[in-house]
This record gives sequence, C-alpha cells and structure tokens, in this order.
Amino acid sequence: MAVAPEFWVKYWGVRGSIPAPGADTVRYGGNTTCIEIRCGDLRFAIDGGTGVRLFGDALMRQLPVQVTFLMTHLHLDHVQGFPFFAPFLLPGNQFDVYSALHNGSAVEDVLRLLFAQPAFPVTMDMLKAEIAFRRISPGDEIRFGDVAIRTAWLEHPGGVVGYRIEYAGKVFVHCSDWEHPRDGSLDPVLLDLCRDADLVSIDATYTEDEYYGRKGPARYGWGHATHDQALRHCKAAGVKQILLFHHEPSRPDDALDAIAADIQQTMPNAQFVREGSRFELL
Ligand SMILES: [Zn+2]
Ligand SMILES: [Zn+2]
Repeated sequence: MAVAPEFWVKYWGVRGSIPAPGADTVRYGGNTTCIEIRCGDLRFAIDGGTGVRLFGDALMRQLPVQVTFLMTHLHLDHVQGFPFFAPFLLPGNQFDVYSALHNGSAVEDVLRLLFAQPAFPVTMDMLKAEIAFRRISPGDEIRFGDVAIRTAWLEHPGGVVGYRIEYAGKVFVHCSDWEHPRDGSLDPVLLDLCRDADLVSIDATYTEDEYYGRKGPARYGWGHATHDQALRHCKAAGVKQILLFHHEPSRPDDALDAIAADIQQTMPNAQFVREGSRFELL
C-alpha cells in the first residue's frame, strides 16, 4: 500500500538570542531555535537551539532514527541544545549535519568546543550515533529523493543560510536571523528565496521603535528584522502563510498578543509562531 504523502513543520523552539523560560513566556515558549520538518519518510531539522532537547526526547520514542540537520549559522542560540540531544548518545542513530562556514568555522568546530571540558563533561568521542558533518556553500541546491532544498546567504553578522524546501508541489522557507536593508529597500535575495512560498518562518525580532533606537539603543547591524519589515518582504514575495519567528527574549506573551492583534487587522495570514505548534503543508 502506498504511504500517504506527508509534509509538515513542527516548531520545538522559537525564541531568539537566549532561552527565556518563565511565567510570562509560557504560551509562545522560551526555547531557542529548533524546527522539525517531515517530507514523506525523510526527516529534517533546522538548528540545535534548546528546543532540540525536546525534539530529541520525542525521537527517543521512535528509535533508531535518521535526521538531516540543516544549520542556519553557528551563534550560540542555534547550537546550545546539542549537548542535551539524547539520540546523539546511542548507536544505530544516523545524523547528517550540514553547515556553511561562518567566520571560517563549520558546525563541527563549534560542537568540539561545546562537547569538551571545561564547557561540558561529555566529549564528541562519547557520542555513539553516526554523525556525518557536511559542508554547503550558500546558493547550493541539495536533493534528497523528491525533496529539493535551495539555500541562500542572507544578511547577519557572520552570515546566515536561509532554506527553501520544496516537496510534493509545496514550499516551506525558513529565513531567520536575517536583517532587512536599513534604507527601506527590499532585499532581493530574501524575496527570491521566499517567492510564492506556502509557509515561511521569518525573523521578526524587533518593533520599529526598538530597531531605529526610539526605544533603547538602535539595533542596526545586530542581524535581525522588525515585524513590519518581515511582513512587508513576505507580502512582496507573495507568501501565503507567515510565521513571525525569533521572538525577542524579553517580549512577554501579552506583548506578542497585542502586536499580533494589530497585525492581523491587515494581514490575517500572519502570526507569531508558538513553541510546539505544527503546520501541515499537505
Ligand atoms: Zn538567533
Ligand atoms: Zn544569529
């Protein structure tokens, strides 16, 4: 019997910059970036922020597992969960971890620092899963069976890789830790990556007042976008469903609700994504 096609995306961590647990962030979640993507019987994940611990716990109920990790970049909030990703410890599990070079380093260089004293007692040679580190150059297209993945190099300190994943005629794009042009123009690389996508999760860390320094310091060059600029780019690219992502760590649930209510008056297809939520593309 043919297997019914599946294409879904699950958010195990949506918070930006640093984990933000607490009573004020329970509804949107406090874990940093980790996204699971299922295309038929192929399983992908983007980044290893603290959400990857929860993803790992779910995988432990389905052993053995095979997952292809796609790294956006190597900032701490995108790698810090890997030491607590339990499936790395067990033989029989297989992982391919793709990353570009950021400031001359790949993901395995950063993991060797994390999995070593004095940072952590478990070292890389204690990981019994098969872990293969693979290099990508932004702009590369990678194919896994019927899944086509396009990559793009986006604006962020040290650079960040955006991913466009196409399967069964549907398109999912993840483009977080991206900063929009400061002069009000549209970023052509981002527009091209997001063009006519069905579902996009996009960096939307700041309010306009925060970004332009009307509330606290100006955030120019910090590598993140405003809500307005993320929405403007998605609208120009013809995105069907927009998930605002990489929530500012000090932004409580009530503040996200208030901004979302305002946005949805004109763009009902946009929302702040919540930890634990899952979106079906098929
Ligand atoms: Zn980040
Ligand atoms: Zn970053």
